[in-house]
Amino acid sequence: MIRRILLLSVFVALTNMVIGQDEGKKKLEADFERYKREREQDYQEFVRKREAELKQMEQEYLEFYSQMTGLKKHFAEKKEPEKVQVVQDMIDYENNVAKTLGFKIPERIKENPVAKNNADTQAEKTESTAKTSANTENKISSETATTLKADNSIRDGIPVLIPVPKRLAKITSPFGLRIHPTLGRPIKHNGVDFGSGRGAEVYAASSGKVVLTEYNRSYGIYVIVEHQEGSSSVYAHLEKIIVSKGSRIKKGELIGYTGKTGRTSGPHLHYEVRIKGIPVDPSGYLIESR
Ligand SMILES: [Zn+2]
Repeated sequence: MIRRILLLSVFVALTNMVIGQDEGKKKLEADFERYKREREQDYQEFVRKREAELKQMEQEYLEFYSQMTGLKKHFAEKKEPEKVQVVQDMIDYENNVAKTLGFKIPERIKENPVAKNNADTQAEKTESTAKTSANTENKISSETATTLKADNSIRDGIPVLIPVPKRLAKITSPFGLRIHPTLGRPIKHNGVDFGSGRGAEVYAASSGKVVLTEYNRSYGIYVIVEHQEGSSSVYAHLEKIIVSKGSRIKKGELIGYTGKTGRTSGPHLHYEVRIKGIPVDPSGYLIESR
């Protein structure tokens, strides 16, 4: 009898252990499922924020383009051919980059410039709107940066490497509105400038394909590299490029050297990050360095 009871209690104890293990396993599985759901929500949230950011950036880009066509007209009327040329070179550059990256500038933007006779009032107006949106923009960019820092899988393919050696990676002119040195007006800066001096190495911010190498009177010698997820990076005012159009390059690969080709007061790297052809603030993407 005692033996039976003993056996029974051993059996009960064993059964409990198995059930206990089972419950532990179930709990682990539930935790894992919850974790997966939360990560998926985080990712969706990240995608949603990026889409909202991009919509706003597109609007600002089109306003910038429209402002440039308006300024061209304005300077033509004021008989300032040098300034007309500067604006025309900037428009040419935008058209080239947009065409290469498959971004379509709507005809209505090309035909209906914002800045006509009242270019100054318009510039002031643009300045104040740009200031408000710059705040939102920076906020979103820092959120993007946090997400990019935290998630290696999102970082894959996106231009996250600082394109010049770390010791030379000082931003001398940020993204956003600034007084244009030649035109003397507040005009949106579509990238950041690294005051790297002349002859600094320029690295590919991510792996990708060289889709354009060109010369423009304003931007000098420039290179566009297309990456995954519709992102691309642009490197301008270069002294020399050592990659050719159509070649595939790896993240960190040498593209060329900084210089002062085009219209610039001194040697520096003008660097842009574009998503689907639309310039976004690169500061949120400067995550890795070498
Ligand atoms: Zn610049």
